[in-house]
Amino acid sequence: MSAVAANAPAAAGSLAAVGFDLARLTAGDLESRSPVDGRLLGRVASLSRAEYDATLERSRAAFAAWRAVPAPRRGELVRLFGEAVRRHKPALAELITLEVGKIGSEAAGEVQEVIDICDFAVGLSRQLYGLTIASERKHHHMLERWHPLGPVAIITAFNFPMAVWSWNAALALVCGNPVLWKPSEKTPLTGLALHRLLESVLRDFPEAPAGLSALVPGGRAVGEWLAADERIPLVSATGSTRMGRDVAVKVAGRFGRSLLELGGNNAMIVAPTAAEDLAVRAITFAAAGTAGQRCTTLRRLFVHESRYEAIVARLKRAYASLKVGSPLATETLVGPLVDKAAYEAMQAALAQARAAGGVVHGGERVAIAGHDGGYYARPALVELAAPIEASARETFAPILYVFRYRELGEAIAANNAVVQGLSSSLITQNLSEAELFLSAEGSDCGIANINIGPSGAEIGGAFGGEKETGGGRESGSDAWKAYMRRQTQTVNYSSTLPLAQGVKFDVE
Ligand code: NAD
Repeated sequence: MSAVAANAPAAAGSLAAVGFDLARLTAGDLESRSPVDGRLLGRVASLSRAEYDATLERSRAAFAAWRAVPAPRRGELVRLFGEAVRRHKPALAELITLEVGKIGSEAAGEVQEVIDICDFAVGLSRQLYGLTIASERKHHHMLERWHPLGPVAIITAFNFPMAVWSWNAALALVCGNPVLWKPSEKTPLTGLALHRLLESVLRDFPEAPAGLSALVPGGRAVGEWLAADERIPLVSATGSTRMGRDVAVKVAGRFGRSLLELGGNNAMIVAPTAAEDLAVRAITFAAAGTAGQRCTTLRRLFVHESRYEAIVARLKRAYASLKVGSPLATETLVGPLVDKAAYEAMQAALAQARAAGGVVHGGERVAIAGHDGGYYARPALVELAAPIEASARETFAPILYVFRYRELGEAIAANNAVVQGLSSSLITQNLSEAELFLSAEGSDCGIANINIGPSGAEIGGAFGGEKETGGGRESGSDAWKAYMRRQTQTVNYSSTLPLAQGVKFDVE
């Protein structure tokens, strides 16, 4: 217990005002260990089933009140929350670095995403537009209206411990729904800190009912309760495909809705006309950044045979120069893997590649003085002649499988030849190639980019992917519609009752 208090970092300081005090988080079954050095940061208790049920009842009661609050006022709440996040951005980012191991600029970028989606949601709160529809019946009009849905459960993964919740919560709240958040059991502290901040805003917002937002910490069991709970019309779940398959079946079995954001196995094609510097930077950031622990991380690279030797030589140099180390050091570009299991999964995939005749560059453990409990690895480049089982699945670590190709059609087919369908990109100066890649005959992913890597999305566009990535869309564009129910309304302002399709049903 005292070890936790003694290790409490400076990050907690600015958040103490909202009741987040790391030094006091010494009890509970969920243990937060820092990937930086393996030390215990704090503990949080899982919800008991009785506490869970009480939370759900408060959430249902909150819905009855919140759905009647005008949407622009709901937006005002989200605006105030976004302001609070702005004020605490450095402390929140430091907490992400400590609990997830992201380097400083990426952690700050994640908090910025929370701010950005709040801004987006505020504007959206005045734009929950429906349609008017021409009726075939005289003196009738038809319209589509969007109504709030009810309590929305948000299950999040460890690697974006704040942003993913905010994509869902900011939209769900302006759409008139209470929210329940189950953070990853690996990142209970970031969840608790951000939620305390929201609670501090809710306390001062007169129209916000008790229970409008709840944290439901716990492991897989709490996630399973949420998925099976008929009181929850929408479960938004982000994580592995294994988890998504389980949630999808449970939610569908009760005719609920699920919004799934699952694993990716993202590819990039480097075409004959690719700008070399741009390609090397795009590849290195997308494949090695965040230590390969983004759902949009670049995992498969297809290089045109005319550029293969030069690009791979540049990549080997770039990879060898990447500074791997503590994410708290400003010069570090690649921080630790989340835990020992992640490191072992990386080594197993590399062993399989070697056994299949692949040439592996890098991938070894890097010792960082004073950080023996952290799992640091040099990002790996793996040259392969053909796909192997390991390159067809997502290993959540910095491994980039590199292949040659001859024809663009062949590379697009290879891009699409995996069960995941999240993000993809093409580096080219050739307009026809770019347009083909973006066309219906091109990439089959939810995200397709030209001259940037597959990672680093902005909140303005709907985010998500096809196939085993789950099909969900979150964040921008019209993703808000997932958080509302659509009602088609018909109004007759005549004194007669003409029936649609000319049906006659006259009664005396
Ligand atoms: P994970 O699947 O182990 O856990 C994710 C969350 O699901 C956790 O909160 C966990 O407690 C919960 N959970 C696990 N099993 C469950 C079940 N049966 N029912 C209900 N909840 C359950 O994933 P992780 O290791 O935390 O995150 C990495 C994975 O997340 C990668 O596959 C990555 O690609 C994916 N991811 C996807 C996106 C996206 O937007 N597509 C974003 C971030 C991460």
